[in-house]
Amino acid sequence: MLLKRKGDLETAAIARDPNAQYVPQIQVMPQTPPPQVNTQQTMAPAPAPAPRAEAFTEAPRPVSDMQRMPMPERTEQNAVGSRLVATREVLPASSEEEEFTPTNWLNNIFMEAMRLNVSDIHIIPERDYTSVRFRVDGVISEVAKWDIDYHEMVLSRIKIISGLQVVEKNIPQDGHIELLFEQAKTAVGWGQKGASSLNFRVSTMPTINGEAAVLRVLSKENCVLTLDQIGLSDKSLFTLRKILQRGHGVVLMTGYSGSGKTTTLYAALNEIDANQKVIITLEDPVEYRVPMIQQSQVNPMAGYHFDTGLKAILRQDPDVIMIGEIRDDETANIAMRLAMVGRLVLTTLHTNSIVGALTRVSDMGITRSVIAAAFMGVVAERLVRKICPACRQESTPPYELMKMFNIEWPEGDKVYAGRGCDACGQTGFVDRVGIFEIMEVDRDFENVILQDSPTESLEQYVKKHVTETLREDGFDKVRKGITTLEEVIRATI
Ligand SMILES: [Zn+2]
Repeated sequence: MLLKRKGDLETAAIARDPNAQYVPQIQVMPQTPPPQVNTQQTMAPAPAPAPRAEAFTEAPRPVSDMQRMPMPERTEQNAVGSRLVATREVLPASSEEEEFTPTNWLNNIFMEAMRLNVSDIHIIPERDYTSVRFRVDGVISEVAKWDIDYHEMVLSRIKIISGLQVVEKNIPQDGHIELLFEQAKTAVGWGQKGASSLNFRVSTMPTINGEAAVLRVLSKENCVLTLDQIGLSDKSLFTLRKILQRGHGVVLMTGYSGSGKTTTLYAALNEIDANQKVIITLEDPVEYRVPMIQQSQVNPMAGYHFDTGLKAILRQDPDVIMIGEIRDDETANIAMRLAMVGRLVLTTLHTNSIVGALTRVSDMGITRSVIAAAFMGVVAERLVRKICPACRQESTPPYELMKMFNIEWPEGDKVYAGRGCDACGQTGFVDRVGIFEIMEVDRDFENVILQDSPTESLEQYVKKHVTETLREDGFDKVRKGITTLEEVIRATI
């Protein structure tokens, strides 16, 4: 709210300037380090479908970084590329204004990325050209490219607004960009979900062709989902709520990176009444901002690691601790200790299954008896693409794929697929949804863990006692026309 008010003031100030021809709606500001000089930039309103011609106009900015360059080439070959109309069509028509600067090119990329709801923007130098690729719903494709001669200018701009060392080109760097929106309601894409700001984690890396930059969308403010919005079946939702209700112990979300486990973690956190509990998080980085919660971000450069942070948290009298990810033995150890003294610990682990997670924790030096006592529940998750509702139609099962992976599909059960339309960029998919399996660590499962059973028998036990397996949950979503059989097979093999 504070940020919004700040934006209001700035907008008002610019609007009073008789030379300003437009009211900027978005500002780009570096998060770290704090700006020494005024590097804040303003951006045009998020493009509502029409009138688009006014959208990407430029806000006043220092002349120093107005390096002129020709318009980049558009890539026409792929579906997403053909939707990148913004680069040319929305810029002002007069020849002078059509000139290209790193700032307006980046603003165009941000706008287009927002419209398409991308999760990552890749700006990658090839030998002769720079390739811009968007990851949308887990799938990456090239959306634009331009001559390599301009690469360094754009990279410098990215580094300035994300607080990185511009002259340092030979080592990887990490930074942040925060975009603030004034008119969230008029924005499409991310804005449609009510975001008023967006955070990118920026990562640069030297390659043989120059520096590559990848911008990952981190927080969609006000977009923390609740447990009933992430695709949990009734049975899984009931079980997860029951586990959280117990109010102590470790609740672990597990999955590959990009499996949606962080979203689920926040949704679980959202379930807890922050008025009645002290909730503290330790994250790397903070991906969503949640009111009423003490969120802390580790900073290894300054010597602030997960283990030091957790030791400090112990003295902050928390009821609920959220640890972004368990990565090392020490963190695992402290997490277990916190759980054993009656705190609720929500965290994630990068493994592919429930048993895999237990084995991994065991490999981190945690004894079986501590695991049995500390764990309350484990959630395994995958993301599958959702069929575009505008072009969904009945389809035929992918027999070849099913044969390859020995998958049976009941005769007569319907499957669906998207035909491809303008709404989904001809892909047949829009957005993604989670498929879940949840294991509650009850007395019986505790005993199984304590018995030091081999992995296979643990797996068999889990398969029998989870709410439903990932594949069962997925197949259910296939029958309901939410996703395709191919998606579920791909996510669960
Ligand atoms: Zn469609």
